[in-house]
Amino acid sequence: MSIKTIGVIGSGTMGNGIAQVFAMYGFKVVLNDLNETIINRGLKTIDTGLERLIKKESITTDQKSSILANIKPTTELKALADVDIVVEAASERLEIKADLFRRLDSICKPSTLLASNTSSISLTRIARETKRPDKVIGMHFMNPVPIMNLVEIIRALQTSEMTYQIVTDLAKSIEKTPVTVNDSVGFVSNRILMPMINEAIYTLYEGVATAEAIDEIMKLGMGHPMGPLTLADLIGLDTCLTIMEILHEGFGHGKYNPCPLLRRMVDAGYLGRKTGRGFYVYEQK
Ligand code: NAD
Repeated sequence: MSIKTIGVIGSGTMGNGIAQVFAMYGFKVVLNDLNETIINRGLKTIDTGLERLIKKESITTDQKSSILANIKPTTELKALADVDIVVEAASERLEIKADLFRRLDSICKPSTLLASNTSSISLTRIARETKRPDKVIGMHFMNPVPIMNLVEIIRALQTSEMTYQIVTDLAKSIEKTPVTVNDSVGFVSNRILMPMINEAIYTLYEGVATAEAIDEIMKLGMGHPMGPLTLADLIGLDTCLTIMEILHEGFGHGKYNPCPLLRRMVDAGYLGRKTGRGFYVYEQK
């Protein structure tokens, strides 16, 4: 089965990057979100990203136009009926993803593969919502999608070999490196990354050092390209909190308890870059 059309659900931090990359490699993308204002914000981010590539002479103005022409925005899930694969990148909440996968299962043609970009929710659990669990898989892109090379491929217990092969080849076709893991809480990436970010937040919460100092120590001392608090702001603090809650529930160990400061910031609506304020303040777009 050759993939030509791709449905992307969610035009937020990850969804717009996923849509952009697929469109750049010539795939026809149907981009879905809840309303036009949100989708237009996603399209604006793609536009800005492509403009940056023109300035760097990586693409031409004509190429930008054809990339944008490959993306069809829609608020109707029904518009994804005939795509070859859906990559779901909606908010990190099981009830949202379960509902979407149930609806996609009834809307999409029988051969459509259903992938989720979830950071931590069990693919085996998501697959159970459908009558095609063998066609469900995790395709976990990294942020920012146009730049980061890794796609963590998560095999649900039910994922078929054929689904796995098609999705692995698809990742390679957009010049990403797929790395396969089994379905387990937080997979590999977030099982290791998120407790480190949570610990950095505890370190700030306990007044051990300023945010700047914590980030500088991890950058200069550990060779990380950005500090954990800057990274948390980039990921989104709501997403970080949900992942910590899922790790906590999944492993039942106190070491995964989300830091109270993380909860408080999410309660305040300080979600990081996407709201203009997190551990740092950002210029509003
Ligand atoms: P986000 O909050 O930036 O965007 C989520 C988008 O989903 C929003 O635009 C929202 O309107 C939309 N949405 C919510 N419910 C929907 C529905 N029923 N139908 C259509 N659209 C809906 O979140 P994000 O950071 O882009 O995360 C999306 C997914 O990607 C999550 O599963 C997250 O765990 C995962 N992820 C995030 C990162 C990261 O660094 N932010 C990295 C890898 C994976």
